[in-house]
Amino acid sequence: KTRVYKFGNKTADGNSTMKNLLGGKGANLAEMGLIGIPVPPGFTITTDVCTEYNQLGQDAVIAMITQEVEDAIENIEQIMGSKFGDKENPLLVSVRSGARVSMPGMMDTVLNLGLNDDVVIGLAEKSGNERFAWDSYRRFIQMYGDVVLGMKPESKEDIDPFEEIMEALKHKRNIELDTEFTIQDLKDLVYDFKEAVKKRTGHNFPTNPWDQLWGAVVAVFNSWNSDRAIYYRKMNGYPGEWGTAVNVQAMVYGNMGLNSGTGVCFTRDAGTGENVFNGEYLINAQGEDVVAGTRTPQQITKLGSLRWAELAKVEEEDRAENYPSLEELMPTIYNELNEYQKKLELHYRDMQDMEFTMQDGKLWILQTRNGKRTGAAMVKIAMDSLKEGLISEKEALLQIEPSKLDELLHPVFDAKALKRANVIAQGLPASPGAATGKIVFFADEADHYKSSILVRIETSPEDLEGMNIAKGILTARGGMTSHAAVVARGMGKCCVSGAGALKIDYKKRTLTVDGVVYQEGDWISLNGSTGNIIEGKVATSEPELSGEFAELMELSDKYATMQVRTNADSPKDAKVAVKFGAQGIGLTRTEHMFFEVDRIKAMREMILADTLKGRKEALNELLPMQREDFEGIFEAMEGLPVTVRLLDPPLHEFVPHQLETQRSLAEDMHISLEAVKIKVAELEEFNPMLGHRGCRLGITYPEITEMQARAIIEAALNLKEKGIEAKPEIMVPLIGTIAEFEHQEAVIRATANKVFEERNDTVEYLVGTMIEIPRAAITANLIAEKADFFSFGTNDLTQMTFGYSRDDAGKFLPTYIEKGILKVDPFEVLDQEGVGQLVQIGTSKGRSVKSKLKVGICGEHGGDPSSVEFCYNTGMNYVSCSPYRVPIARIASAQAAI
Ligand code: PEP
Ligand code: MG
Repeated sequence: KTRVYKFGNKTADGNSTMKNLLGGKGANLAEMGLIGIPVPPGFTITTDVCTEYNQLGQDAVIAMITQEVEDAIENIEQIMGSKFGDKENPLLVSVRSGARVSMPGMMDTVLNLGLNDDVVIGLAEKSGNERFAWDSYRRFIQMYGDVVLGMKPESKEDIDPFEEIMEALKHKRNIELDTEFTIQDLKDLVYDFKEAVKKRTGHNFPTNPWDQLWGAVVAVFNSWNSDRAIYYRKMNGYPGEWGTAVNVQAMVYGNMGLNSGTGVCFTRDAGTGENVFNGEYLINAQGEDVVAGTRTPQQITKLGSLRWAELAKVEEEDRAENYPSLEELMPTIYNELNEYQKKLELHYRDMQDMEFTMQDGKLWILQTRNGKRTGAAMVKIAMDSLKEGLISEKEALLQIEPSKLDELLHPVFDAKALKRANVIAQGLPASPGAATGKIVFFADEADHYKSSILVRIETSPEDLEGMNIAKGILTARGGMTSHAAVVARGMGKCCVSGAGALKIDYKKRTLTVDGVVYQEGDWISLNGSTGNIIEGKVATSEPELSGEFAELMELSDKYATMQVRTNADSPKDAKVAVKFGAQGIGLTRTEHMFFEVDRIKAMREMILADTLKGRKEALNELLPMQREDFEGIFEAMEGLPVTVRLLDPPLHEFVPHQLETQRSLAEDMHISLEAVKIKVAELEEFNPMLGHRGCRLGITYPEITEMQARAIIEAALNLKEKGIEAKPEIMVPLIGTIAEFEHQEAVIRATANKVFEERNDTVEYLVGTMIEIPRAAITANLIAEKADFFSFGTNDLTQMTFGYSRDDAGKFLPTYIEKGILKVDPFEVLDQEGVGQLVQIGTSKGRSVKSKLKVGICGEHGGDPSSVEFCYNTGMNYVSCSPYRVPIARIASAQAAI
């Protein structure tokens, strides 16, 4: 078994198909080597070794790979013509993590590994640049200290211990910038850093390059199980068993002087999707300088530079002199880079996010990957690439991450409110969208308000959880490729970065702009599309669907065979869903209609009535209201099928529990308060979710079913008179036995026939059932004899299959997920292994007696992409989900069919 894969010099042991084994980064490095892109040589320790590490521990694993690693280092030495640990001609390496999917900021990186007090002298001589050598050395100790030796700040208000030492020296020397340090300062820093390490860890900083290397490898493996990596995996549903690979690569230097530099670039705009090459770079810098945002990065292209200057209000003279683009400053290197970006996008057939370094005039590509992008950019890039002939229709559809479309379906600032807005400052439009919330300064406090905006000088991977909770992110430092910007775009979260006018004081918890002080808890709003920072709260409004979005949806219909319906309880929701392309209603929960103020009274009177007569009187009041609702919904659906479900929840949910309301109800009904109280107490159930609900209501009180069936049929007839087609599908909830269904079906059909007679006209309608009790799924063949259709209610089916109360699962599910008992919440993502079996059994048993039986799903899972795929594989006719998830389900349905 090979555990170490080499690459470099236009050859590689691996390739891009080996992402699971080599991680995304390792596989891409190998692939780039194979297609002739200049990558610094190196090797990848596989993800399998990470798993072995977790099982067998450090010593066993190091013993297992020592020989292979030594060979691989020798290979790098040969290509680079230098030697690891050598005093005269040293080879230095970088060590990075790389899981199979990119997890920005999750894993740690160590650069300049291999330096010690002797090697630094060799490096100074070799580069002819003593300052560079000592600067690299102090950076190495700092990074290695942070990442491998755990030298983190002790409290959140503190800064990095190494930064503290540097700040103290700057203060003492009365200088401001790192670049003002003398060589002697750097030497002093190295000494002080090592002292700090010894004081904090009790050990000397390791001087043997091999010890350094193994320490870093182990740190990468350990970081796979760091809190923030676990959190990120949980957020994205990635399993812990994947593990991370370790990439060790020859160092190349962007900080070797004015002919060197480093940068990050994208083949297209990750925010808007526009097909323009873009990115940022810094001269005489290392990678982390660009991402950390301590210096203002410059743009790669001249076009980008001009756009940036406009936003940052930088005069053209100033721009051309102090912030020229790479295109203007180093045209030869720019041309080479431009060629590689084209080649890489063509090769990977997707937008690429690349890192590069120029060392003394030679360009190296450090990394490429499919770039993270906003939902809007995702749609535009897919459709543009299709039109350009870069990818096929199917590839365009598969490039879409369905749940990311969510971003396009979210509110934007209300245009009118925006006109009145007081813009207090501007930053970079790092991740589009609109956000309004209360200021918080620490990520772990993002949940202190319902809507918060996380305001930071800059963000770090530790802030991930808080960034996810906050409505938006604002940073004072950092460019478009800073940590905050990259992570926010990945999350689809609004972000404004690099707003230099902000003065943030963590200790006082204040934000000051132009002398105006904002406190923690003050409202602030961000426009991630323009970079505007706005004082106070700004109203938001519904989004507009762009042209490309509509084209994409049309394309999905070409491939999707399974339909997408919606769950809608009102004409308004129905209209939204039709706009998003719903092909019918899969579930109208009629009870939701009863919660409106003027209706709940009649509903309560019906429930509290002691006699059949009293109940019928109250139902007669409800009838016209229901009929009107159905007319509105049928009309909105323009002849598409509409599944209406009969009353489902326990009656107890409708009765008043507050004394005030009980009293006024008693007055209205001319009965005593005592009588109301007794009735309310009578309706109380120990286990309402398993109690008197669903078809059990219609069986004990058939007059309820009668009223609802009548309202549905009359509504359809009324529309027919107006020349509008309505296709009602009446659905009986929560049946477990065929007898329950038969009872309700008889009531419905008898009522319908009566209405047809009265009106001397008919409409077509179906009578079907929900399958949401395990017994119904198992006896589906009996039920299908009578039912016209099935709709799986996977909310209740999940509840009853797991035996987890829907109302109480929130108490223990988080612990279950934390402890790995469950991977995900089964109420969000369908449990294919268990609940899914019941769905499959129900479908195939049903179809065994009625081969064309219409089958759908209307539980929350209908809008979850992985569950949609499962429904497709089960052979369902449709999934039904909330209106705003319809586009997501449509794409997921098309992807399943491809
Ligand atoms: C279900 O149980 O999946 C369902 C759709 O019905 P409800 O959520 O209304 O119980
Ligand atoms: Mg249900």
